[in-house]
Amino acid sequence: MPPGADIARNLSDVRRRITAAAHAASRNPSEITLVAVSKTVSADLVREAFVAGQRVFGENRVQEAIDKQSALAGLDLEWHLIGHLQSNKAKKAAASFDWIESVDSRELLDKVASAAASSGRRPQILIQVDLAQEATKYGAGLSELRSLVDAALASSAVVLRGFMLVPPNPEHAEDSRPWFRQLREIRDRFVDDGVPAQHLSTLSMGMSHDLDVAIHEGATMVRVGTAIFGARASTATP
Ligand SMILES: *Cc1c(COP(=O)(O)O)cnc(C)c1O
Repeated sequence: MPPGADIARNLSDVRRRITAAAHAASRNPSEITLVAVSKTVSADLVREAFVAGQRVFGENRVQEAIDKQSALAGLDLEWHLIGHLQSNKAKKAAASFDWIESVDSRELLDKVASAAASSGRRPQILIQVDLAQEATKYGAGLSELRSLVDAALASSAVVLRGFMLVPPNPEHAEDSRPWFRQLREIRDRFVDDGVPAQHLSTLSMGMSHDLDVAIHEGATMVRVGTAIFGARASTATP
């Protein structure tokens, strides 16, 4: 079997899961964007996924993404940064990603906004939220969320689109449900409180093992690596 065959089949399996989960939740599958998480995966396999119809890819390291982008120059791809971004890499990130899903502090927001302004690009951003307040995870806490939303709305250099969540490592997919539901409820509350809905329309939540639950709870973006590209080497994060 050629190497791309597995990826094409995996992708269609994942798309089928998305469609089934959307229908089960009485939602339209076209509301849900599949981000293929290609961290640690070679540019050749990203190309295989592209050939199988995938356009949106997620990476957790800036330099790794830049290397793949230059290897795949000319393909019409959309790149999302999904991993923690250090402030000193904000400039490179703003210049090379269409979406930055992992904005998690005021300092980082300001760095990304000023980098975006000087690079002339206007990245879409999500605010990564840490609902469980895990010491090991990145993300803004609930208490700082509203001020971060307001600051992002006030910036003309970035476009706020919503929230991103990485819940505590679940044993079962159902363990993620309360976190997914909580994020949706927070979003709904912010919209009730006057934040324009189009700036919080994206909920990026759900990975290989729990994307179905996430879609049931309102995810509009799922980030899927293992189910598309297979298991990563154990050094990969998370
Ligand atoms: C690696 C990663 C994913 C993909 O996880 P899988 O379990 O391989 O689907 C999703 N989101 C983030 C933030 C990640 O780092």
